Amino acid sequence: MRKMLAKKRIALVAHDNCKKDMIQWVEKNSESLVGHDLICTGTTGRMIEDALRHKYGDEAIDKVSISRLKSGPLGGDQQLGSMIAEGKIDVLIFFWDAMHAQPHDVDVKALLRIASVYNIPTAQNRSTADFIVTSPILSKEYTPKVYDYSSYISRKIDL
Ligand code: PGA
Repeated sequence: MRKMLAKKRIALVAHDNCKKDMIQWVEKNSESLVGHDLICTGTTGRMIEDALRHKYGDEAIDKVSISRLKSGPLGGDQQLGSMIAEGKIDVLIFFWDAMHAQPHDVDVKALLRIASVYNIPTAQNRSTADFIVTSPILSKEYTPKVYDYSSYISRKIDL
């Protein structure tokens, strides 16, 4: 059984062309977000931290839990995928660029895939992110369905 606590671990990632959207969204929803643990890829995290610092000031921002992983193209997306597989991420907000290929396209696909495997609530655009951030479940305990992959793990492979 996997149980999410009231305080969620929210991953935030935005490709360069989507960063403006992400920062605007974070600024708009900062009151709902700052009570959770925010885990970001490198550049997205730096920009979110700057925006929150600007809004709340140095002292208040020190109390917000923001961690920054590597930049996406340098392994940040893979770090997040690994955290999802280890049960360390509850929600993924991922504004990916649907109009331009990325150097790390394979990592992007891998992150979205592993989020589906582990039934992670995932927003791939701002409207879905709005639905998630305003959901009453965001600040409550929640037990997501855990899919049973045991038959996959124990499958027989003929040699
Ligand atoms: P970034 O990475 O936050 O370091 O820009 C995001 C991404 O490209 O996946």
